[in-house]
Amino acid sequence: MTDHPDVVTICSDLIAIDTSNYGKAGSKGELAAAEYVAGLLRGAGYDPEIIESEPTRANVVLRVPGADRSLPGLLVHGHLDVVPAEPERWTVAPFEGRVADGYVWGRGATDMKDMVAMMLATLLRWAADATGPRRDVVFAFVADEEEDGALGAEWLVRNRPELFAGVTAAVGESGGRPVPVRAPDGTVRRFYPIAVAERGSLHMRVRATGTEGHGSRPNPDNPVVHLVTGLARISAHRWPLALTPPVRRLLDTAVRTLGLDADLSSDEGVEAVLDRIGPLREYVEPSLRCSTNVTVLDAGYKFNVVPGEAHAEIDVRSLPGAEDEQLAVIDELLGPSVTRSFLSYRPAIGAGWDNAWYDAMAASVLRHDPDGVIVPFCMGGGTDAKPFAELGMAGFGFAPLGEDPDGRTPAGMHGVDERVPIASLRSGLDVLDDFLRTV
Ligand SMILES: [Zn+2]
Repeated sequence: MTDHPDVVTICSDLIAIDTSNYGKAGSKGELAAAEYVAGLLRGAGYDPEIIESEPTRANVVLRVPGADRSLPGLLVHGHLDVVPAEPERWTVAPFEGRVADGYVWGRGATDMKDMVAMMLATLLRWAADATGPRRDVVFAFVADEEEDGALGAEWLVRNRPELFAGVTAAVGESGGRPVPVRAPDGTVRRFYPIAVAERGSLHMRVRATGTEGHGSRPNPDNPVVHLVTGLARISAHRWPLALTPPVRRLLDTAVRTLGLDADLSSDEGVEAVLDRIGPLREYVEPSLRCSTNVTVLDAGYKFNVVPGEAHAEIDVRSLPGAEDEQLAVIDELLGPSVTRSFLSYRPAIGAGWDNAWYDAMAASVLRHDPDGVIVPFCMGGGTDAKPFAELGMAGFGFAPLGEDPDGRTPAGMHGVDERVPIASLRSGLDVLDDFLRTV
């Protein structure tokens, strides 16, 4: 019987394999990380499959049969790639995988090589204890999430859907982590938000047309002007506040648990509550509204030539069910000379909290922290849950971490000095193992 590395060592090892995803500028690739994952699993007696969507862009998939194979299956997915890091801005080397001061440090420590390490450590435990899950659990370690999943989750969904046969729910990144909030009476309550919905990710390209001509002549039909005035109107637009069911549920629970005197029936009342729920605010604010951000501008080629057209890209995020309404408003704001098309269109998804999957996640957290308060939330951004939803899976964000008794917290996601507390990783593993075995 070989000695398996523990979750901290695995997390550190994974960080030391640089899987930076530079987006359109390329990628380090996930192959070395995929080989590490597959090697660990083979050493424990599993038979994982490495699946390359393109050379070096690698995914690993393993199905662990459940004790009752008639039950619907569960997918647990984690991405192997990370966003790039600028080493000169860090105090530790981002791809060293240093373990020090109670933390594992490095790019991916919280997004999401921590969860990938917990998934692997769960599997190694099961092998060592000769145990396994109640239902089939498919483990997917995927490529390319930090771009758009086209070579990872989306590729698997399009090209290898049979890997997910019988799977009706998926659990992935974000959620399941303790969020301590101080109540007005001075007590601290620990909330555990679980993601049950995601805003839509609509990446839009817009095109303004007009009349080309000499830059010295009057031109009332200049497409650059049509474009920027439309974009200015969009940028100035204040999208209305709307409480979707998970957001309302979270706020109601927070108000009741903390004993706040609050009125959620007005925008001002909601804004006032945001100021009183501490770090829980981050789980509410991004999903209160639709949003639009102009991210790319592309117009003109010479100072004395008015071009015939001009382009821009807009990052549009929609609330569940609000896509059509939001697009109609965008069309009106853009004006008649500007047309739009989608670079990608992934509408919002929502699994809700009134189901056995959510109950099982909540129960696993509460077995480890009986005083915890479980709340649903809607993610402001997007994850691989969206492509997996195309196969009919209900998508959840549940990558549990426990509380560090000395008060350390995860930090630096997509920023500098990314790190995860060792104690949080160890207790998160206990929660994830418990959930995946018993669900
Ligand atoms: Zn991530």
